[in-house]
Amino acid sequence: MTPGTPLSAANTYELLVQAVVDYAIFMLDPEGYVMSWNPGARRLKGYTTEEIIGAHFSRFYTAEDKAAGLPRRALETAAREGRFAAEGWRCRKDGSHFWAMVVIDPILQDGRLIGFAKITRDMTAQHQAQLAALESERSFRLLVQGVTDYAIYMLSPEGCVTSWNAGAERIKGYSAAEIIGRHFSRFYMPEDVSAGMPWRALDIARREGRYEAEAWRRRKDGTRFWASVVIDAIRENGKLIGFAKITRDLTERRETQLQLEQSREQLFQAQKMESLGQLTGGLAHDFNNLLTGIMGSLELLQTQVARGQTQNLERFISSAQGAASRAAALTHRLLAFARRQTLDPKPIDPNRLVAGMEDLVRHTVGPAIELRFELAPDLWPTRCDPNQLENALLNLCINARDAMPDGGRLTLRTATTILDAQPARECDMQPGEYVAIRVADTGTGMSPETLQRAFDPFFTTKPLGQGTGLGLSMIYGFARQSGGQVRIASERGVGTEVCIYLPRHRGQVEEGETEPRRPKAPSWTEGGKRVLVVDDEPTVRMLASEVLKELGHAAVEATNAASGLQMLQSDPGIDLLVTDVGLPGGMNGRQLADAARQIHPELRVLFITGYAENATLSKGTLEPGMHVLVKPFTMEALAERIVDILSEH
Ligand code: ADP
Ligand code: MG
Repeated sequence: MTPGTPLSAANTYELLVQAVVDYAIFMLDPEGYVMSWNPGARRLKGYTTEEIIGAHFSRFYTAEDKAAGLPRRALETAAREGRFAAEGWRCRKDGSHFWAMVVIDPILQDGRLIGFAKITRDMTAQHQAQLAALESERSFRLLVQGVTDYAIYMLSPEGCVTSWNAGAERIKGYSAAEIIGRHFSRFYMPEDVSAGMPWRALDIARREGRYEAEAWRRRKDGTRFWASVVIDAIRENGKLIGFAKITRDLTERRETQLQLEQSREQLFQAQKMESLGQLTGGLAHDFNNLLTGIMGSLELLQTQVARGQTQNLERFISSAQGAASRAAALTHRLLAFARRQTLDPKPIDPNRLVAGMEDLVRHTVGPAIELRFELAPDLWPTRCDPNQLENALLNLCINARDAMPDGGRLTLRTATTILDAQPARECDMQPGEYVAIRVADTGTGMSPETLQRAFDPFFTTKPLGQGTGLGLSMIYGFARQSGGQVRIASERGVGTEVCIYLPRHRGQVEEGETEPRRPKAPSWTEGGKRVLVVDDEPTVRMLASEVLKELGHAAVEATNAASGLQMLQSDPGIDLLVTDVGLPGGMNGRQLADAARQIHPELRVLFITGYAENATLSKGTLEPGMHVLVKPFTMEALAERIVDILSEH
């Protein structure tokens, strides 16, 4: 074609058809024989122009379609209706199939049919995608419908059920017909409905996109089940069109969980019983030894006295006394462990207390161990019994020394610590502000098994006679009773750090308060005071009166609070009330003291107490002029206290 030659419409059309490769465009004669062929047809069907011109178009059809007379019917339809359009499988030259979109138009000249124009397009890919989409939608629908483990359903924006699957029917008991259109709040327990839970759930899903919960829900028959619920908001172009809701029935899982917790609890109980057995066993053992010492000494004493022998009896007495005071120390430790020791808490400065122990610790651990103090500046005060804290720290230093037979480094540190809710819960403490006192060594460390049992009373890895196994248990009891905690970090071959936490005290520490009260030499006062001794235990009354008499005072005795009070009323000259805290007859020693103070506001009081009454005393602090002596005590200690109190002004 020469450039510039004007193209006729027919030529233009011919060129276009020849250029098109995406569409097969060809002509058939009225009988269906191929008259023209374009590159698109060649590409699509695989025949060259030479091969196909004059061939019948039915060869493009599948064998089944041919047998069914489809080619002929297509031409008839096109001739009759002016167009035939269809989609279906067609064949290529190589026998392969493709999904064809076919249009056949009749070509008329002067009203006479002279052939057909046929356009075919390969739509295999689109067809398959569509099929796949259809298939996945169908299978998804089937899936949702068929799922029986999950209740999957939709809610309108107001919360009315709009679809319902088999799982929903199985779990909740309603058929689709019964429930569609009903509000979903009927699945909630009545108390949750009155608390507005269903609406709150939708609100959250609306606001945050999703709501998740585990809770009891109600079936149609009124029974409840433990449900795991997810509600998702569904939006289209930003507008809420409803909610997708998935519910699972976890009743069984919850029950096994509860059972598991129960058996864990039982296991814990069993372990507790075991350590209790160990405790009582150890206790019985120790007490038997001590009792043997006491009974044996008394027995020998008795034999000697029966023989009229009064020389050299001292040694029996002192061995009995020795055993008895060891027994007293043992009960004291046990009470500490039981958190029932009578504590005398005071505001203290931990730094001052720790620093004040330097000499004591240095003597205890010996020269082979390097001693360091790292005391935090601006440390908070705490409130606890300074004697017991000193005792606890000394115990830790002794443990550290035992763990460093070849020497090492012992560090005492103080620090302030703030515990948030989470770490506090992990340590079984109240969140808040604490003072931490740490005793760290570079010794042997503990094995995981030892670490696990270190706080158990009577647990010791030390040879017989060297360890009591009561040190750490006592420290634990003391720390807990003081509102704190003890933690151990230990690694074998590296060392151990024990940390005592004590709650921060908000208040001032008075000068001199921190120093633990060390025994003072008794300063004898003038006698001649009147002392009322109230105790239901005759031995204690007798002993106390004896001590008072030796000090030159006069003692009057009462067996209970009521008679004690009567004596106080009738005898205005009483200077001191010595009373047991636990008294028979409804009024305890503390109440007696309060009533007595109504009569004699200046009356001095000395409480004698075992552990059980501790709570009675620790309610509020003791008023001035009131004192406590803890059982068991030596007569010497009693005398010393009485002298102290009576010399007070
Ligand atoms: P005891 O010292 O009488 O054995 P404790 O209750 O004080 O009893 O300690 C229990 C056990 O914990 C010890 O026997 C020891 O095995 C271990 N232990 C305690 N403190 C340390 C420490 N600082 N280093 C290594 N082990 C320790
Ligand atoms: Mg110890």
